[in-house]
Amino acid sequence: MMEVATCLVREHDLRLVAVAVLVAVLGSAATMQLYARIIGARGGSLLGWIALGSVGTGTMVWCTHFVAMMAFRAGAPVRLDTTLTLVSLGIAILFAAPGLAVAASVRRRFAPWGGAIIGCAISLMHYTGMAAYRVDGIVEWRWGYVAASVLLSVTLSALAFRTARKPGLMPRAIGGLLLGVAVATLHFTGMAAMLIHALALHPEQGLSDATMTALAAATTCASLLFIGCAAISALIDGQTQSDAYGRMRRMALHDGLTDLPNRMCFGEDLSARLQRRAGTPLMAVVMLDLSRFKAVNDTYGHQAGDQVLIALAARMRDILQPGECIARLGGDEFGALISYSDAGELTAFLDRLSGIFADRFTFERFSASIGANIGLALAPRDGADADTLLARADLAMYRAKSERSSQPCFYDATMDEAVRDQRELANELREAIDREAFELHYQVQASIGTGEVTGYEVLVRWRHPTRGLIPPNLFIPLAEDIGGIIPLSEWIIRQACFEAALWPNRHPIAVNLSPLHLSDPELVGTVRQALAASGLAPERLTLELTESAIIHDRHYALDQLGALKAMGCGLALDDFGVGYSSLDVLRSFSFDRIKLDASFVADVDSNKQAVALLRSVVALGTTLDIPVLAEGIEEPVQLRIAAQEGCSAIQGYLIGKPSRELVDPALVRSTVRKATGEGAEISLVA
Ligand code: C2E
Ligand code: MG
Ligand code: MG
Repeated sequence: MMEVATCLVREHDLRLVAVAVLVAVLGSAATMQLYARIIGARGGSLLGWIALGSVGTGTMVWCTHFVAMMAFRAGAPVRLDTTLTLVSLGIAILFAAPGLAVAASVRRRFAPWGGAIIGCAISLMHYTGMAAYRVDGIVEWRWGYVAASVLLSVTLSALAFRTARKPGLMPRAIGGLLLGVAVATLHFTGMAAMLIHALALHPEQGLSDATMTALAAATTCASLLFIGCAAISALIDGQTQSDAYGRMRRMALHDGLTDLPNRMCFGEDLSARLQRRAGTPLMAVVMLDLSRFKAVNDTYGHQAGDQVLIALAARMRDILQPGECIARLGGDEFGALISYSDAGELTAFLDRLSGIFADRFTFERFSASIGANIGLALAPRDGADADTLLARADLAMYRAKSERSSQPCFYDATMDEAVRDQRELANELREAIDREAFELHYQVQASIGTGEVTGYEVLVRWRHPTRGLIPPNLFIPLAEDIGGIIPLSEWIIRQACFEAALWPNRHPIAVNLSPLHLSDPELVGTVRQALAASGLAPERLTLELTESAIIHDRHYALDQLGALKAMGCGLALDDFGVGYSSLDVLRSFSFDRIKLDASFVADVDSNKQAVALLRSVVALGTTLDIPVLAEGIEEPVQLRIAAQEGCSAIQGYLIGKPSRELVDPALVRSTVRKATGEGAEISLVA
């Protein structure tokens, strides 16, 4: 050690030694930068980075050696063998390549082996370089120092790459430092291994000190320039990659349309908040489901739907404060998170959230009023883990939806019971569909003009063993949810045809058709078979469907309707006025009847606006020359107003409730005539 230090201080130009060390340190840092790129590269770019890395590393090692050689004062004339000097540079570069490749192998434990190869390359380069160093004198080698220099170089290089392979900037910096030390240690220990007995045979041929300094300076500049360029390209590439990674991560975590965080980001945020809840103990998970959004999509097209979503997202972003997040979870479903310390903050957030929907969304082509059903679960009260909180907020949102409430609905334990009930009912319904445990009730329809019975609407009931007769509103949507609506609907059509065929009066029947059944390719066949098997004339069967059945898949729906009509069946548009009330739907198919929803006659006897509304909807039907039937007629006055506004038929409790028994036509006739007969007063309507 002392010998090395003595050799360094006494026999070297210390300024050039400092330059050599600087080259070693800067060059090693650059090598580690390139090494990081090699680790991250794949395919063709891997070879490119190995090539650049080995040229950079070899140049750094060789330049350190060369400058340190120039710093050495041999005490005798010195010349350099050009060929061997260049060969030593080539060796450094060539051997660095496999070293870097092994060090960057996917198996991390190979890193020190790659470093060891580079350590060997440094040693080989140094002693080849020394062979190019021609000095007038006798050179004596101390083999112990030679062995120590090689051992140190290999060990330190191995250590350098082992350290640099660890993730993070610090290990890379330490690795670079160790590599610099390996290069410098080899050189100066190697120099201490060489004893020169000067002879000065050709003093005139030796390089002067000034020439050596100039050579060292020129080599340093050229090398540092090259090493610097290589390191900068590695840096730029790294930055580009991390930018691209950042962009990809953003894309993966954000919704493409609205740029709001997506479901994945929402999940990550929720988990993170739950983990660090110690600071802010309260948190709310909020679920939002848009209402009236589907109508925009169906009426104005998906582009319009997208416009609404983008505008909605902008409003959502505007109301956010620190600690709050709103994400688009899919379709028209949104989620929000808020960490809060007192209930007031939560209330304020919910007010801001509801406020988003207060104003209409107005665009060039259309305007729409969108609402939302909001449900929320609170942590830790309603749950401590993400899944529970999400499921409960969802339940609360469904409660808000089923109650058609625009007020935020907080989760409570009864909702779980409701879900359990619903599940039980679903299982029982599956069984009921298998056992055909239903019965059909019939509600009479009559002509306003004559009072004669014009037909019966078929209304299904579930004969439940313990709950009695369950009305269709409670199980038809459930049957649609559990995938049982088609077998149920097929049974209804078959049974209705069969029962009606046995009636002596030959009245027509109207069977309700679920939108899902209308999209069933077997529907036309089912109807044909039911008619054939029962012997019911097709003209006696009308199918009732709502606008939504057509709007879902317009072309297919219209084809199906065409086929049913061609068979001779009638078609009625049910519940008209409450859905889309689309003139387009009315025009697209020649319906035999429009059934005006019961809500239009509900308060015509006490509300002038209701009468005006009724008048406009009836006018829509009559201008298209389609007879209009008013549903839900309970009072004579409603019948009179319906008659006056142009309805041609009625259905309602006034003339008959749904029942297994058919009504007495004479009774219906007299009820209608009494209500519409001469002298009957029509209150309110001027
Ligand atoms: P809808 O097709 O509009 O049937 C008319 C509903 O109004 C029936 O209710 C009927 O009982 C009720 N209603 C009739 N007159 C009056 C009245 O004067 N006052 C009041 N308050 N209500 C009256 P129901 O039987 O409970 O059926 C409800 C809905 O369930 C039906 O509405 C229909 O959409 C659906 N539905 C009924 N049977 C079937 C079926 O066989 N298949 C399918 N897919 N849906 C059905
Ligand atoms: Mg109906
Ligand atoms: Mg109806």
